[in-house]
Amino acid sequence: MTVAQVKAISGTNLFRRLFLTQKKGKHCRSLQHRCLPTNEEGRGRERYHAGTVTTCTMQRQLPILICGGGIAGTTLAYWLRRGGKSSVIVERAPTPRSCGQNIDLRGSGREIISMMGLEDRVRKATTTEDGTAIIDQKGRHWGSFPMQTKEKGGSISAELEILRSDLASILYDATKDDTEFIFGDSVEAIREKEDRIEVQFQSGTHREFSLVVGADGIGSKTRALAFGDEATEAYHPLGLYQAYFSIPNLDTGRWARWLHAPLGRSLLVRPNGKGGTTVLINWRRDHATIERHLRSSGAKEEIARGFEDIEWDIMPQLMDGMMISEDFYGAEVAQIKLNSWSRGRVALVGDAGYCPSSVSAMGTSCAITGAYFLAGELCRHGCYVTAFREYESSLRKYVGDAQKLMPSETALQNPQWMVGILLIRVFATIISYLNLQKYCVPDDRPEDMKLGRYETKNKPKTQRSYGDSTSRLQRAKLHFRLQNEFRN
Ligand SMILES: Cc1cc2nc3c(=O)[nH]c(=O)nc-3n(C[C@H](O)[C@H](O)[C@H](O)COP(=O)(O)OP(=O)(O)OC[C@H]3O[C@@H](n4cnc5c(N)ncnc54)[C@H](O)[C@@H]3O)c2cc1C
Repeated sequence: MTVAQVKAISGTNLFRRLFLTQKKGKHCRSLQHRCLPTNEEGRGRERYHAGTVTTCTMQRQLPILICGGGIAGTTLAYWLRRGGKSSVIVERAPTPRSCGQNIDLRGSGREIISMMGLEDRVRKATTTEDGTAIIDQKGRHWGSFPMQTKEKGGSISAELEILRSDLASILYDATKDDTEFIFGDSVEAIREKEDRIEVQFQSGTHREFSLVVGADGIGSKTRALAFGDEATEAYHPLGLYQAYFSIPNLDTGRWARWLHAPLGRSLLVRPNGKGGTTVLINWRRDHATIERHLRSSGAKEEIARGFEDIEWDIMPQLMDGMMISEDFYGAEVAQIKLNSWSRGRVALVGDAGYCPSSVSAMGTSCAITGAYFLAGELCRHGCYVTAFREYESSLRKYVGDAQKLMPSETALQNPQWMVGILLIRVFATIISYLNLQKYCVPDDRPEDMKLGRYETKNKPKTQRSYGDSTSRLQRAKLHFRLQNEFRN
């Protein structure tokens, strides 16, 4: 049903809707929905949907479909399972997509990973970065920012810096035993029924689910299917193009080094924790140019040409490494901003619903935190409308803060002229000398998020998730903490 149709029907039934609101139900965020009172078992919950009363409960025998088996998708499946709900993940890639480079785990994202019992595995897989230094073409350090710790607070290098590929594998391992995965397929069409949602897959198969959750990243097809034109309007490009790749046999040390060059260019070179280097290239371009580059197969050549004037001693190795890299990944930096994260029986989580962009360094933490809250609310409420509303109200502020960028932040980070670069270097020197970095870098405070509020029913099948290397005492402590958290 289109938004226009819903609006028309809503108008003709305005009187009845107002009556329902006042006499019986709580007001739900979405215009189409009206929650009615429930009995204790969650039965009798209904929603008033475009003129007909349909149930808003989730069919117990039908699983929830999660589109996308990335960070948000696997975390959501994990916590749904812990709360007693089954889910199916459909992932477009033919196998678990364990690729991607340095990502940060901060604040509540880090706490949730710890509540999943995965912190040890994540710590073992960190990239062993000591910190980040702003350098010039001669390799001189201008400002040096040691890694963030809980005590010292925020830094450019988070306490848990891990390759996306490693985190994706750890989360897949923690989920795969109790969740059905469908690889190499995706959702083609969705049709809402009275008490369920019918899904047509690209492979031609049809299946029914109680709900659909889009966890399919910034370019989410689920968003497009459920939100129509609003999905396109939600995409806000930030005028920056990024390319990631790794060079397995090049060791550039344990410090991340960030070199700025005129014309809005910069290079960030970091250890990958495996004796190699990951490279991030930033390039400020207008939207049309970025689009053209990303779609062309000559993106590597274009970058090599655009960066050939930079005289840094490791530049030839970086460019040669890029040309033969197999994990080259180019992306436009953008944010997703929607007025609501759900439409009917479809909700969005992670980058699909509220990507804060890589510039914020909060994308992965937002995805993990969002998945945790969505799962918790779906397991707590029999009515999905209430669950979606609670999920959104718990997370709106957190996501809003994560999406807050300085005006023209991408331009300030990648200046056009040498004078801007000099300002960055002087500023970095002062911040580093006066040790003010914690005031300049985002980090949420997990205590504000009231984590551990949800009751869980199932233990994960994968006992490894309690930590391979933890001692019995550590495991007992962790178990005790989890029990307490879930009771609260
Ligand atoms: C291959 C890859 C590499 C990345 N590398 C980096 C990086 O180096 N640094 C960084 O900061 N961020 C990177 N990101 C983004 C980062 O993972 C996310 O910003 C963040 O972790 C939020 O996670 P998410 O689960 O919401 O989205 P993602 O991690 O983007 O996961 C989305 C998942 O959905 C799948 N998918 C997409 N479309 C469909 C569809 N139609 N049907 C089914 N499945 C679909 C994708 O294959 C992917 O597995 C990368 C993402 C991907 C997919």
